[in-house]
Amino acid sequence: MINRLEIHTTWNGLVQAWKAVWQASDQPERWRAFTPHCDRLLALARQQGLNDLEAAVMPLLDLLARNPSPGEAEKAALDRLLPGVFAVVRDIWTDSARRNIGLRSTEEETMPLVVMFARSADSVRELLLQMEHYGYLFRVFTDFRLGLQTAVTQRAAAVVIELPETGVDANVAPLIEEVNRYGLKWFALSERGDFPLRLQAVRHSAQGFFVTPLPINALVDAVDPLAYKAKDEPYRVLVLDDSATVLATIEKTLAQFPNIHVRTLRHPAMVLESLLDFSPDVLLLDFHMDGCNGLEVAKIIRQNKAFESIPIVYLTSETSEAVQIEAMRHGGDDFLTKPISQTQLANTVVSKSERYRGLRRLMVEDSLTGLYNHVKTKALLQQAILLADREKLPVSYAIIDIDHFKRVNDTYGHTVGDKVIKTLARFLKQRLRRADVVGRYGGEEFVVVLYNSTPSAAMEKIEHIRDAFGRVAHPYDDGVFHTTFSAGVAHYPAYPTMMELMVAADDALYASKRAGRNCVTLAELSRAG
Ligand code: GH3
Ligand code: MG
Ligand code: MG
Repeated sequence: MINRLEIHTTWNGLVQAWKAVWQASDQPERWRAFTPHCDRLLALARQQGLNDLEAAVMPLLDLLARNPSPGEAEKAALDRLLPGVFAVVRDIWTDSARRNIGLRSTEEETMPLVVMFARSADSVRELLLQMEHYGYLFRVFTDFRLGLQTAVTQRAAAVVIELPETGVDANVAPLIEEVNRYGLKWFALSERGDFPLRLQAVRHSAQGFFVTPLPINALVDAVDPLAYKAKDEPYRVLVLDDSATVLATIEKTLAQFPNIHVRTLRHPAMVLESLLDFSPDVLLLDFHMDGCNGLEVAKIIRQNKAFESIPIVYLTSETSEAVQIEAMRHGGDDFLTKPISQTQLANTVVSKSERYRGLRRLMVEDSLTGLYNHVKTKALLQQAILLADREKLPVSYAIIDIDHFKRVNDTYGHTVGDKVIKTLARFLKQRLRRADVVGRYGGEEFVVVLYNSTPSAAMEKIEHIRDAFGRVAHPYDDGVFHTTFSAGVAHYPAYPTMMELMVAADDALYASKRAGRNCVTLAELSRAG
């Protein structure tokens, strides 16, 4: 078992001592004070069988042993060696953090990093652990150079800078300048929260301002959008027009916008198929075509439930108001009059797509947590089962229910209760693969669909999440409290239909509750009969 916190703390001490050396290398006692830190790190490496760390620390000790009174050259050599040690320390930290929550190391699953520049590392140790529970790597530095190096090379999601009493003074200004120069987003932390200081921070491009003690929840809320930026998926536009010239012009115009993908279609008969496999955010539809007109095509499209909300924009040279009104009555959303102006075309595509996406999101998302809602979750579970049946793959299904949640509401209030629900939602989202479905089933109940997952893998994952969630300190007015959840897991194909899966998982959840809560139960895999 690797004690990563001890390694991390030792490393921080070593960096402190190194900084002292660096500031005054002609003082031999500073060099002497530095050596024990390296010894300690080496001892830890050997104790815990960390060969990489041992190999990285050895040259340091070697150098120190060979030079009883080191000078500038040794200082420079040390400078070159330390980043190597740091890289190993960081890997140990990241790796074990990942193992801890049962994630495999693929790119999308690495934990985002927050770098903090604090005046003293001791005061933030508890914070360090809390951030880890929220799915963040949190590194604290008192040394500007090392911290900056880490933030830049590891592409930190955010930086927190503790401002001195005096505000942005000559000591901290160069750091902030560098942080901004590298395009890092930074947040100010200060003992003061007065307007002049906040103004100073804003003028130095701070993204936010916190007053000590650092409120973890607020920090996580502020950093989440930076760390988990939704991929800017390009807008998809389908254009149906029987004129090849018109299609070519539109295609050429929209090709200038990298966030817009176009597919063109000349034959109305193919429109439903194209809608299905391209799934556009907006349809541009010619009003006058050979054989049929845009109005008729729109009616056919709207008769399909799947396409009833896709925006339709008519392309027409028709300027008669009566015709336009008639067209709008039949499910059109807008008109673009030929010849179409380039900016108007792009603007219409983007604004209609955005609204449509917003609408779709509203239909499938739970408003408090942003997870899939009840209806969508069930649909996705059904889909997963169909797919699993075809591909002969297993699926695990889990129901998660917060323990004694009524008491949380009664004791700390509904608002605090809502925050606990949001925290659990974030936990599930962050700690599961992107391919897994996470939904809020209602109230304090969540469900998870793990595609292509064995019962033991599913149990391990939910167990890890249960364990981490139990350690989160939820803040309320007068302090913090802890809360837990119980879960039931059922497995496909042991339970071959959606109904059977749901009932089995529910029974397993009930068993967890009866067993004293704060545990996960797997529904029997082989049933009698
Ligand atoms: P158990 O351990 O048996 O699950 O006990 P419990 O108190 O969690 O279970 P119960 O189902 O009796 O109570 C659930 C409570 O959750 C009741 C309801 O007031 C609360 N709740 C449901 N939805 C929300 C919500 O969106 N926000 C808040 N704050 N509370 C909610
Ligand atoms: Mg409940
Ligand atoms: Mg409950």
